[in-house]
Amino acid sequence: MTEFTPQPSCADAHEPNSLNVQDAQQRISKLISPVTAWKQCPLRDALGHILHQAIISPIHVPPHNNSAMDGYAIHGSDINGESFTVKQIGTAFAGQPFNGEIKPGECIRIMTGAVMPTDCDTVIMQEHVATDDSAITIHGKHQTGQNVRYAGEDLKTGEAVLPEGHKITPADLGLIASLGMGEITVKRKLRVAFFSTGDELRSIGETLEEGQIYDSNRYTLYGMLKRLDVEILDMGVVPDQKQALRDVLQLASEQADVVLTSGGVSVGDADYVKEILAEIGQVDFWKIAMKPGRPLAFGKINDTLFFGLPGNPVSVMVTFYQFVSPAIQQLSGQSYQARQLMQVPCVSTIRKRPGRFEFQRGILSENKQGQLQVTITGKQGSGILRSMSVANCFILLKEDCDGIQPNTVVTVQPFSGLI
Ligand code: AMP
Ligand code: MG
Repeated sequence: MTEFTPQPSCADAHEPNSLNVQDAQQRISKLISPVTAWKQCPLRDALGHILHQAIISPIHVPPHNNSAMDGYAIHGSDINGESFTVKQIGTAFAGQPFNGEIKPGECIRIMTGAVMPTDCDTVIMQEHVATDDSAITIHGKHQTGQNVRYAGEDLKTGEAVLPEGHKITPADLGLIASLGMGEITVKRKLRVAFFSTGDELRSIGETLEEGQIYDSNRYTLYGMLKRLDVEILDMGVVPDQKQALRDVLQLASEQADVVLTSGGVSVGDADYVKEILAEIGQVDFWKIAMKPGRPLAFGKINDTLFFGLPGNPVSVMVTFYQFVSPAIQQLSGQSYQARQLMQVPCVSTIRKRPGRFEFQRGILSENKQGQLQVTITGKQGSGILRSMSVANCFILLKEDCDGIQPNTVVTVQPFSGLI
């Protein structure tokens, strides 16, 4: 009979040789060199791309002094007490400037966005004006220079508008369009391949036999990758067979910048991912002091980054959010994005043992007084994907935390659009 020595397992609160979350993030970051390839891209297609070259304004925005109101352009020097009269001699519309001379005592009707005539420096909004043919009587208190938008007030020629490494948003599309630029220089998109491992997994459309389940990880991964604006290569489900796994991994690593797998990285008899990676790549297997998501494989197969995520559906999402997503952002050349954290009172009681860093699923909401609060989503098992679906944030519980009593302030990480 062999002697039994207890081995470290997922049930342990703490393992002396496990890595903490921050150290794992730093180790990953050190191994990444951002892509350098770039391309010219028509403006609309640049949404979600990363800027390769800073955008420098080629023009003043707005390009000319213009009226901020519908009203009358006057000489500020004509302002005289709280009621005075000037004579209207013409009109300026947006896109149709008034080109004549405007002498003191004269004014023009002017619309919002119309070029300010050089003779005038002040606009009186029409609500403060009484008209009688061309006689314009202005009431109320007014100041020279009011209601004028100046050339270059928003951006000056040569001013930096957006830095290299910036990810193009809808607002940026408009901003760049306002500069008259139809093409910009962006980094090439990353290609990310992924597949699921497990004999028990079936794809949608197949019938489930006893013991089989539908593969959900390829769908959550697809969704999260889509949000990261990368090209996606879904390589399906691979059974727990060494040769099949080796073939697909090899192929994936040749075709993609990043390869993600789920399942097969723990210590079960059919967990072959480790063995194969040791043959074809330089990969470390980490036990991370976190819950969920303890086992994680990370390394390179040639130049391709590899992440072997755990199989449990919630663990996949948590490890993706904490490790894969920042790595993809860094590799894509995007400038560093700090994750937003908030301090919010927690309404629920949370049970936790000291030892691991926990990412509990939370719901951030407003109470009746309009103040933010967070509750947990209920059962927190790493197989309960519904907990992610109802959640809108993680509640971060540090290693030494031994549970949360209601109304304690906790740290919350909103999903910020990725999940
Ligand atoms: P493993 O890490 O391969 O031992 O898997 C851990 C648990 O996650 C097992 O219950 C698996 O059945 C489950 N699992 C693994 N991959 C998937 C997947 N792609 N979709 C849904 N469940 C999965
Ligand atoms: Mg498995």
